[in-house]
Amino acid sequence: MANPSLLILAGDGIGPEVMTEVKKVIAWMGDKRGITFDVSEDLVGGCAYDKHGVPLHDDTMAKAQEVDAVLLGAVGGPKYDNLDFSVKPERGLLRLRKEMDLFSNLRPAQCFDALADFSSLKKDVVAGLDIMIVRELTSGVYFGEPRGIFTEGNERVGINTQRYTESEIARVARSAFELAKRRNNKVCSMEKANVMESGILWREVVQKVHDEEYPEVELSHMYADNGAMQLVRNPKQFDVIVTDNLFGDLLSDAAAMLTGSLGMLPSASLGAPMANGRPKALYEPVHGSAPDIAGQGKANPIACVLSFAMALRYSFDLGEEATRLEKAVEQVLADGVRTADLMGPEGGVPVSTSAMGDAIVAALNASL
Ligand code: NAD
Repeated sequence: MANPSLLILAGDGIGPEVMTEVKKVIAWMGDKRGITFDVSEDLVGGCAYDKHGVPLHDDTMAKAQEVDAVLLGAVGGPKYDNLDFSVKPERGLLRLRKEMDLFSNLRPAQCFDALADFSSLKKDVVAGLDIMIVRELTSGVYFGEPRGIFTEGNERVGINTQRYTESEIARVARSAFELAKRRNNKVCSMEKANVMESGILWREVVQKVHDEEYPEVELSHMYADNGAMQLVRNPKQFDVIVTDNLFGDLLSDAAAMLTGSLGMLPSASLGAPMANGRPKALYEPVHGSAPDIAGQGKANPIACVLSFAMALRYSFDLGEEATRLEKAVEQVLADGVRTADLMGPEGGVPVSTSAMGDAIVAALNASL
């Protein structure tokens, strides 16, 4: 059977620095686990603009459509701030998401015990937290028509339209149920069916997909405002949360911050299954290119490493290896290894990006 294929787009700023550490993990997988990936690399963002005059070349886009998964570092930086909107680095990322039709955005919020003090919530509320927010990414109020600023009588009116078709709701619901089956088998769907017709339809369709296709998964429904409250009151009650684009935008940011540093947060965006049954997929850390620390060896590579762990689990059916990698990260943190962003008030000496990557590989070795 062909090796699984991975396209690496390291991008700008700290992107290449954190990706170097992921490449150490990929090499380790080949050497020690006999798992070899066909890895190709290309440009996205500012570096692609520098070479091609566009933030994503057509050839790169075509490659992204062919591989089993894309792993992206970060794009952007002050050098590109004054470019025309159409060629800004972020447009490269948006083109990937749009043309791969990545409708399901997975944002885990996982709190490693060693970092529980970093949360703004009490330690016992967040320690051991492991939830997944599934946000619909390609429809809803950010895309619905009509939209715009119009004049009515003698004043202006701003209009956006929340719009969801049954099939758009059903496909993201399926994505959430599939995830739940690999986790703790619970889905909570959030909308505002009490005040929005699109919410009524959302609830009906999620329930129907559940009853017809996933009756073994536990499903509950919650109004999104209550969901926000419950997320900070008792986040551990959740396993998978599925919600629309707007509510998901807010809820996933709030949930992410339960766990501390931006340098720790991975994400995945999944699309429809390809011919081989795997979903189209883009994995990337939540953070940006961090120009303030780029080139200084200070970046925390864990968000990018954990994004690769998500790829192992969701694109390559290597759930055990994903868990091994996550446990290695957990071990390193428990051993007190910290990049600068993870230094608490008690201080200490931070390690470099490269030393953090080496520590993760050492923990992987120790896991054998
Ligand atoms: P940012 O995420 O790059 O940085 C915010 C803060 O977090 C900075 O102080 C940075 O040093 C720190 N930080 C981020 N990642 C870190 C890591 N791995 N380790 C340690 N510290 C880390 O956000 P920003 O400063 O608002 O944006 C910088 C550039 O990145 C902009 O050009 C922006 O458009 C772009 N951006 C790209 C993406 C992406 O590629 N997905 C996402 C957000 C921002």
